[in-house]
Amino acid sequence: MPEGPTIKNMADRLRAALTGQVIIAAQSRYKKAKEEDWPALLVGRSIEGVRSHGKNLFIELSGGYTIYSHMLMWGSWHIYQPGEEWQKAEKLARLVLETPEKVAVLFNAPLCEVIPPENLQNHKTIALGPDVLADDFDPSEVWRRMHLPENREKELGEITLDQTILTGIGNILKSEILFRAGLHPLKPAHSLTQEEFDDFIRYSRELLQSSYEKGMRKTFIPDWLRPEITGFGFVYRRRNSPCHLCGTPIEMVRQGEMQRSTYFCPVCQPRQGEIIPFQTRLKPLEERLRLTRQLEPGGPKD
Ligand SMILES: [Zn+2]
Repeated sequence: MPEGPTIKNMADRLRAALTGQVIIAAQSRYKKAKEEDWPALLVGRSIEGVRSHGKNLFIELSGGYTIYSHMLMWGSWHIYQPGEEWQKAEKLARLVLETPEKVAVLFNAPLCEVIPPENLQNHKTIALGPDVLADDFDPSEVWRRMHLPENREKELGEITLDQTILTGIGNILKSEILFRAGLHPLKPAHSLTQEEFDDFIRYSRELLQSSYEKGMRKTFIPDWLRPEITGFGFVYRRRNSPCHLCGTPIEMVRQGEMQRSTYFCPVCQPRQGEIIPFQTRLKPLEERLRLTRQLEPGGPKD
């Protein structure tokens, strides 16, 4: 299930493999591709750059054309050498771009378009909120969008996934970010104090950047908490299991039109009242681990 950091990695790999190369063949299974004659539009164009914005991926071509793809839950771009065996079945390939040196294959992605230059400024992706992983990410723009009349009553769990407010956070990262920030997912957007918002942004940036660099598994549970803490994250898919930090059973709610699941600890993420910072909540566990490791035969591990 790709989230923003995965797509940014995918864009890095495509950029490194394809930039500067000319498309010498293009095949596609999309219905649109036939209607719009994509091979005629694409062959002969050079690839000038690849960028991501949240979960949206853009391949920029000469002449101002852009190949836009969105992976949703299933899509992925693979890069192969000419003649190399593919890792997925050929019938799953939706778009194949060949250059003299590489073959780029888009598998399973339900959304792909070739955008001519004159349509770029009206494309639906213009409405996307700031990308949490972008160097020029602007939190004040997220604050502004969150407080628009149509958004201010929305629950935080919905806000976090709303691509018109901010982009890059998927369903798994959502639960782990809100847990660290101590924010109850049912709180309405407008109820956040500036300090709570700042924490939300800080943990979003931290967890997305770390996921981009080393993957989600290593991000959610730091190495020093292993092997005592097993599993994927603090809350994600841990419904009814005790919170690693306070022992309270983890709960799950479904939110938004898509009824996406959000996992949370009702004590670490109080619906009202004071929020205890993540580092403070973590302290007792840290102490406990230090103690057990020292008492183990052979002395402390680290
Ligand atoms: Zn807890």
